[in-house]
Amino acid sequence: MRDTTFLTRTTADGTEIRMPVATISGTRPGPRITVFGGQHGTEYAGIEAAMRLYRELDAGVLCGTVVVVPVTNEHSFVNWIQFAPTLPELQDMMREAAEGSDFIINCHGGEFSEGMHPYVICRFISDPEADRLARRMATAFGVGIVSLSRYRGEPPPDPSGARPAWWLWPKKGLCNELGIPEITPEVGEEVDRSDEIMFGGIMNVLRELKLLDEEPDPVPEPIVIGERWWLTADQDGVWFPDCAVGDDVVKGQRLGIVRDYFGDTLQVVEAPDDARVMNLNVGMPARKSGFLVWIGQLDGSWPEETA
Ligand SMILES: [Zn+2]
Repeated sequence: MRDTTFLTRTTADGTEIRMPVATISGTRPGPRITVFGGQHGTEYAGIEAAMRLYRELDAGVLCGTVVVVPVTNEHSFVNWIQFAPTLPELQDMMREAAEGSDFIINCHGGEFSEGMHPYVICRFISDPEADRLARRMATAFGVGIVSLSRYRGEPPPDPSGARPAWWLWPKKGLCNELGIPEITPEVGEEVDRSDEIMFGGIMNVLRELKLLDEEPDPVPEPIVIGERWWLTADQDGVWFPDCAVGDDVVKGQRLGIVRDYFGDTLQVVEAPDDARVMNLNVGMPARKSGFLVWIGQLDGSWPEETA
């Protein structure tokens, strides 16, 4: 059975917002999974893959239920706003879409102004069974690089008001609220409208979780990110990167320069250590504290209890 609907909410300023939700109920019983695309509405691979999932997935081969939210943040999507905030009302609709699910895939990526090395964020919630399943999902997604994330409460207050690095102090997510495994693939980059990697990854997770009655495709044992650096601009300016996604850079190597409008150097951004360039802002504007580039070392390991 196939069904589409819109969830709706009214925001604090009186704006009506809505969220498209499509559900495919398989003819055989099985688990339930919710797949979100477009929480950041300029990250197209997840939107395309989610739409394709609903078009192509045949209820006759599905064991369980797949809930697809192709465009999670419509305001961000239609207005081309890359990092539009997830309003509380939007968060509430996401919770409604995912409620009753056993798993979540929340597709993100880098289109528009970023280069992105495909990787997948594996979210742990300190529940041994859920964390083992999240590891299996992240591995089955198949892109070969995993970044681990664990919510551990709210960070100590920072006098500047800034929130510390997202991987050290991740925000509470739906996985924490609903107590279920969640992965966040980061796939798709500027000038790339292909959904092949994202779609293929989602399908393999469905096989791994037995929503599809097929053996999962073999995947490489993923590399886990160890130490990482999320490098930001000291002040507003114009960003000129000197590296590309996928580059293995060495300590001290210049990754880019922030200049003022007259070309004078405001900031030279150097690699704090040897690492891989994972994600790069290729847009020109640099905002104070705004993202420029992140690099990670490919030498991390899974927590033992997730084996
Ligand atoms: Zn995103």
